[in-house]
Amino acid sequence: MKCRQCKSEETKVLESRESKDGLTVRRRRECHNCGFRFTTFERSEELPVYVVKRNGAREPFDRQKLLRSMTVACQKRAVSAKELEGIADYVELTASQREDREISSQAIGELVLDVLRHLDPVAYVRFASVYRAFSDPEDFLRELQRLAQNSRFNKTQDDLENSESLQ
Ligand SMILES: [Zn+2]
Repeated sequence: MKCRQCKSEETKVLESRESKDGLTVRRRRECHNCGFRFTTFERSEELPVYVVKRNGAREPFDRQKLLRSMTVACQKRAVSAKELEGIADYVELTASQREDREISSQAIGELVLDVLRHLDPVAYVRFASVYRAFSDPEDFLRELQRLAQNSRFNKTQDDLENSESLQ
């Protein structure tokens, strides 16, 4: 965001507040170069969110990709599509509230796990067991699909509680 006075690109965000509908972000900024302070109203949807992968590469946040991996982890579980949309919203909102609008793929996984843990323990373990081992979301998705087709993977809740307590 350019300074309105000296046009420098280097501005610091002093305060960031999202509107109630989540569509606008009001930011109080200060220019590093001349110290000029100004307020911007930025539309959230126009500001992309970036994901930083484990290898350091940045790519635009892909909501559909996240929804696909969660859908696979939640196959045949009592987690609704609406709840998954809610998790995706939560991840996107969390990233958009950061000054640099970036979030690591690892942080996304942890946010998802935080919510899944409360929603459905089976989906949580499915997501966790493969999420942490993969750096590439595509590999991760393939592995989830493979596991979902494997009957041994469809454990009961008791099994999961037992295996969790061993960790
Ligand atoms: Zn300036």
